[in-house]
Amino acid sequence: MILTYIETREKKIKKPSLEALSEAKRIAAALGTDAAAVVLGTGMEGLAADLPSCGASRVYLLENAALDRYSTQDYAAVLAELVKKLGPQAVFFSATALGKDLAPRLAARLGVGLASDCTQVSVRDGTLELTRPVFAGHALLSFRLTCSPQVISLRPNVFPLVAAAGAGETTRESVEVPAARTRAEVTEVLQEGGAEIDVSEADVIVSGGRGMKGPENFALLREISELIPRSAVGASRSAVDSGWIGHQHQVGQTGKTVSPNLYLAFGISGAIQHLAGMSSSKVIVAVNKDPDAPIFKVADFRVVGDLFQVIPQLKEELKKLRS
Ligand SMILES: Cc1cc2nc3c(=O)[nH]c(=O)nc-3n(C[C@H](O)[C@H](O)[C@H](O)COP(=O)(O)OP(=O)(O)OC[C@H]3O[C@@H](n4cnc5c(N)ncnc54)[C@H](O)[C@@H]3O)c2cc1C
Repeated sequence: MILTYIETREKKIKKPSLEALSEAKRIAAALGTDAAAVVLGTGMEGLAADLPSCGASRVYLLENAALDRYSTQDYAAVLAELVKKLGPQAVFFSATALGKDLAPRLAARLGVGLASDCTQVSVRDGTLELTRPVFAGHALLSFRLTCSPQVISLRPNVFPLVAAAGAGETTRESVEVPAARTRAEVTEVLQEGGAEIDVSEADVIVSGGRGMKGPENFALLREISELIPRSAVGASRSAVDSGWIGHQHQVGQTGKTVSPNLYLAFGISGAIQHLAGMSSSKVIVAVNKDPDAPIFKVADFRVVGDLFQVIPQLKEELKKLRS
């Protein structure tokens, strides 16, 4: 069995978890086994009903009101018990911020290895071969884990969502949450920008750097983003450090790793730490007035020019397309 942890927020499934489940289904089929999913918290029966259509032949609902709010220790503890009971070959996570927090904790509890932020999973000679970018995305490392179970997190927006046919069974379990000596729990989730989607989940990212010149000009990027469905505004660290936009928008080594279908970079030089977070984007368009800017080395489409002239033209063209 390949077990996938399904991340939820406000009783809704996060899309990267469904990508992980789709990949788990594909890998499980290649190994001749089943894909299962696990959801934590109460009131999740409705969500569980949707998971078979994404590949889960069985859904485990671990119920306890204490799990309604994320806590690394509690989640790792109840997941570890389930994994010990089921004995899956692998446990898949999506490498979201939460997945990057929880997967290592589970691996440590189980005393097994972790493959994080993988961009490819294949089956060779009956075992899993994993691939992940290293050296800020300049090389790809392929490797195998020799432990069991294998804990694996998959980079969001890399693996396709695949609809599956067939019904699945749901197993509801009321679980105990062990008393912890110390406890860190999320007490409040603040959503900046209303319904804005997170950069790590966006299909299109409209990103700005120091070339945007000031916080007021990020409004130009928001206007572009509003014209593109499933898009989000991203930023370089220079823009974030200057206080022009919040850290949750930062892309790069110390920000978020993103793989959108389209990454639009305005006034971003392309420092290695920025490329580390976005070079796996499917199509990269860079706008920069410096023809030698390093971002052009990874860009599929290059616009050498002043972004303050390019953005209004792009906006007009997008408006025409929308109408
Ligand atoms: C440990 C460490 C971690 C880091 N982590 C990150 C990270 O996660 N993410 C990240 O982004 N950086 C990170 N950095 C910082 C990184 O090294 C760069 O300093 C940063 O990415 C530069 O941001 P920038 O491209 O916006 O600014 P700059 O390098 O100053 O580039 C601005 C660009 O805008 C162009 N420009 C200016 N005006 C215009 C105009 N009118 N029209 C068009 N183009 C224009 C310029 O030609 C230039 O190329 C990290 C650094 C360190 C040391």
